[in-house]
Amino acid sequence: MMIEVLRIGQRIIRDDRVTTHVALVARAFGASKIFMTEVNPEIKETIKKINKTWGGNFVVEFIDSWRTIAKKKRKENFKIVHLTMYGESINDTQKELSKEENLLVVVGAEKVPREIYEFAHYNVSIGNQPHSEISALAILLDRIQKGEQFKKDFSRGRRKIIPTKKGKKVLVKETRD
Ligand code: SAM
Repeated sequence: MMIEVLRIGQRIIRDDRVTTHVALVARAFGASKIFMTEVNPEIKETIKKINKTWGGNFVVEFIDSWRTIAKKKRKENFKIVHLTMYGESINDTQKELSKEENLLVVVGAEKVPREIYEFAHYNVSIGNQPHSEISALAILLDRIQKGEQFKKDFSRGRRKIIPTKKGKKVLVKETRD
């Protein structure tokens, strides 16, 4: 399954930390790309450094219009999944979502344009209480991939963790630069 993430919506005060965390969750939970608007350009550098250290080639793309990307992805046969507390329960939709081949997961910031509810193939709630785009994204990605995302190989990283019961075990690759 190919999963990409689109973060939309404006904030009165830009919250770069939350945006970075949305990107980190997308990367660590098996998505291959995130599209975002109105962000600090440093976020791209942060993710680049993470890829270099921990592997993989997760992509951050800055965009001007969420509509253009969403339309393009629809044409490329992606199903659009909008995460919203008003949507259908993840408990009732996860089975169908797991069968899809390409997903564009849309998460909001503060204000979400009304139009997206109509545009999405699925409006999905992770419970019907307000919480956060970070948690909603993590739970959706885990439910639809059933933990398989953690088996994904993050290739060409400088560091690789060997899980242990206690302490920290990290394999460090020798590099010349
Ligand atoms: N009242 C806002 C709205 O217009 O939807 C909520 C904004 S919330 C801080 C930011 C984003 O987190 C939402 O746009 C949605 O993507 C996600 N989110 C928050 N709670 C959720 C829930 N219970 N289920 C699914 N997504 C949720």
